[in-house]
Amino acid sequence: MRQMNAPVDLPDRLIPTRPNDAACDIAIIGSGFSGLAMGIRLKQAGVDDFLIFEKAGSVGGTWRDNHYPGCACDVQSHLYSFSFAPNPSWSRMFSPQPEIRRYLEHSAETFGLSSHLRFGHELKQAVWDASAGVWRLEMADGRRVRARILVSGMGGLSRPAIPDIPGLDTFAGTTFHSQQWRHDYPLAGKRVAVIGTGASAIQFVPQIAPQVDRLDLYQRTPPWVMPKPDRDVSALERWMFRQFPFTQWLVRAGLYWMLEMRVMGFVMHPKLMKAVEQMARRHLAREVRDPELRAKLTPDYTIGCKRVLMSNDYYGALTRANVDVVTTGIDHVEPDALVMRDGSRRPADCIILGTGFRATDPLPRGVIIGRDGRDVLDAWRDGAEAYLGTTVSGFPNLFLIMGPNTGLGHSSMVFMIESQVRYVLDALQQMRQERVQAVDVRPSIQDGFNRGIQQKLNHTIWSAGGCASWYMDPRSGKNTTLWPGFTWQFWRATQTFRMADYERWPMREQGVAPLPEQAETARA
Ligand code: NAP
Repeated sequence: MRQMNAPVDLPDRLIPTRPNDAACDIAIIGSGFSGLAMGIRLKQAGVDDFLIFEKAGSVGGTWRDNHYPGCACDVQSHLYSFSFAPNPSWSRMFSPQPEIRRYLEHSAETFGLSSHLRFGHELKQAVWDASAGVWRLEMADGRRVRARILVSGMGGLSRPAIPDIPGLDTFAGTTFHSQQWRHDYPLAGKRVAVIGTGASAIQFVPQIAPQVDRLDLYQRTPPWVMPKPDRDVSALERWMFRQFPFTQWLVRAGLYWMLEMRVMGFVMHPKLMKAVEQMARRHLAREVRDPELRAKLTPDYTIGCKRVLMSNDYYGALTRANVDVVTTGIDHVEPDALVMRDGSRRPADCIILGTGFRATDPLPRGVIIGRDGRDVLDAWRDGAEAYLGTTVSGFPNLFLIMGPNTGLGHSSMVFMIESQVRYVLDALQQMRQERVQAVDVRPSIQDGFNRGIQQKLNHTIWSAGGCASWYMDPRSGKNTTLWPGFTWQFWRATQTFRMADYERWPMREQGVAPLPEQAETARA
């Protein structure tokens, strides 16, 4: 494989639609880690009849869209990468965003996905057509595609959460979300208000603090921050990984098992987290000498309840003379200032929203319509759920990569993605062998699975840690985002597609068999 860090020149970024685009067997939506993994594994399995629809003009998903200063991964790159595409050239233990984006572009090219990628195709709606046993897709520009299998690689953290702060839309200065960073807006000399102190803000605040005139950091809840064990990967290590690939595999395996240990604290024995909390307290005490600021930055919930953050420069940035951590609470925004609950006004030229994503609400209404014309959001009225995070009853042949309860608070999402991709491949293989047109998970199987998940989640740090987090669905109070266990348990659970868990309809030689709705309509 060519050096992963070499810039990639994808041959054709806007491939025109070909006449045969109107139909494909498998439609994949999105070209981030999920969509690319699905495409690459299909290709490797000898399946060619698939297209990857991508709304943007290049691959990369979240690693294309998030490009704020300091954006980097908080999981070690030797693990946060495809198992089938090791990159011996990672420059750091935790690689910066441009390098991860290049890695994904390079993977798409190396594994021959270019001819399957359709850029500029934003999915507007996918409707299950029971009479034909296919999904009918309509893109934002009106193009239509028919596909038997629909794989969503749309990701869970792609819709920015814009806070509902009165007057925010009346602000006369510049406002942008961390995911839509305005590199054309010079921050030098400006009074900047940053709202939010999550994983994104702690990465960009240290980068911009030295440039700006003033930085007010509006903190609602302080995060727990651990030191980041980041460093350059030495030239010798990179040479070793290239010459002896098993050494990189050993590093990956070591990282995997080290991170898996965290499950003991998150899921099995939340009290163990107290020891981790001590390490975070020491980090804070070392970095912040001012007791008043330190008190502001000390969380009052158990570590792990919200995502544990890692940074070596966040606390340092907050001790700068031009930075204020504001905890009074924002009452409203006026054209030139943020007004606090105590009535004080804090003038600003620019507001940067580090307010995260709509994780429990990842899709707009009207995008995925299943059997009986039911919107997936209606199926998820009491919180999103799926079977093995992948299939949803009432939505035949729909496979969600990174679906409900597949998120992690402790390890690499790429591992979960690859587990799901293998499950989908097994499903497709069995469907082909048994000549099955469509499968739909049985409601009882999905219910039983989710009851088990929710029971486990009740005893985890995420439920018992005393915090409010985006892991929890605000309507139902259920944790609909995280997998409550070891990742190898998920890997094991998704190893084999059990056809018995699914209702299924046979393929016919001539066209396709009518599915129940149509059969019922025909009988009526
Ligand atoms: P986030 O972790 O959800 O943080 C959002 C922040 O905005 C929180 O501090 C939140 O406060 C605050 N906030 C939200 N609404 C607010 C309001 N109305 N007023 C005041 N504050 C408000 O979002 P994020 O930092 O963008 O990260 C989201 C996720 O993306 C991460 O958890 C992670 O999974 C992923 N991510 C990963 C990496 C990586 O390195 N792999 C990097 C960045 C992001 P509260 O805490 O009080 O709600």
